[in-house]
Amino acid sequence: MHRSEITVDLGALRRNVRTLVRELGGAELWAVVKANGYGHGAVDVAGAALGSGASALCVATVQEGLALRAEYAGVRILVMGPVASSRDIAHARDADLELAVSDAEIPDGVRVHLKLETGMGRYGLAELPGRTDNVVGLMTHLATADTDPRFARAQLERFTAATAEHAGLTRHAANSAAALRIPESRLDAARCGVALYGLSPFGEDPADDGLEPVLSWQSYLAQVKQRQPGESTGYGRRYVADSPTWIGIVPVGYADGFRRDMTGTEVRVGGEPREVVGTVSMDSFAVRLDRELPVGTPVVLLGHGVLAETHARAAETINYEIVCGIGSDPLRARRTVIDG
Ligand SMILES: *Cc1c(COP(=O)(O)O)cnc(C)c1O
Repeated sequence: MHRSEITVDLGALRRNVRTLVRELGGAELWAVVKANGYGHGAVDVAGAALGSGASALCVATVQEGLALRAEYAGVRILVMGPVASSRDIAHARDADLELAVSDAEIPDGVRVHLKLETGMGRYGLAELPGRTDNVVGLMTHLATADTDPRFARAQLERFTAATAEHAGLTRHAANSAAALRIPESRLDAARCGVALYGLSPFGEDPADDGLEPVLSWQSYLAQVKQRQPGESTGYGRRYVADSPTWIGIVPVGYADGFRRDMTGTEVRVGGEPREVVGTVSMDSFAVRLDRELPVGTPVVLLGHGVLAETHARAAETINYEIVCGIGSDPLRARRTVIDG
């Protein structure tokens, strides 16, 4: 038996893609598959997204783009991050990747999207340079689509004003949050990442936006023992029983991506919600049970009602970071792709 099993459901991903395409009402959906598809497996996710309505792929680095180009000839692939070296530009040119450009120097012989700074305060040009032939798109990135739609709308107004004369170019600004909740952000295309994976860009229940989690993660009780009052479990004795308490030990820890700051979150043991107690160690964590359960009882860490958003709240972070951190080391977890 593997210590844990990660299942990626491409059927759920396809349904999320179709939901987003419907929401976009005519704007193109570009699938953001950077960081190995937010930990889900970029190649698998890209294929399913392209097969169900996405019209391009977006990544952060040239290397990510090259890996996808090897699998998907002829598909539009946009590298959104900065490209530092002339070698990377040459690779991008050879592989027909498109590049987001944030400085006035526009590389030759490769299709580019000029990135305008409208309020993110990160990459981006203050104003558009003179038009060059290899510019195919104009883009900006919204800082607050998930939290402050008013500021996002102000960014959009700046962007649409600055780009009004370039209607022939593909204009794109929306991420998942904007695509779902700010209709005027959709423009010609939306760059959606987190929503593809059935995760809420708002940290809420993804079902509220018609999205289904794509990744599930399962392990089992490797040991079950009763702690007496005053006895503890785990490093630092951070959990001490105050009455006789059944504790289950799950053989997954922070080295697998079950973060050390997720103490207090909820997993499902034998289908029932149970609290993670004590210090999460490198290779295991503890759950408090309400009764003795057999060793081998399934424990769901994610999916099937256990939300990344719940873990993110416990860890005071965002669901993005939870899924990006799940380990893909085949020596530690088995990964299965299904098409449910
Ligand atoms: C990562 C990224 C996105 C996707 O954002 P989500 O919130 O995951 O939809 C869109 N645009 C840019 C520039 C990005 O870096």
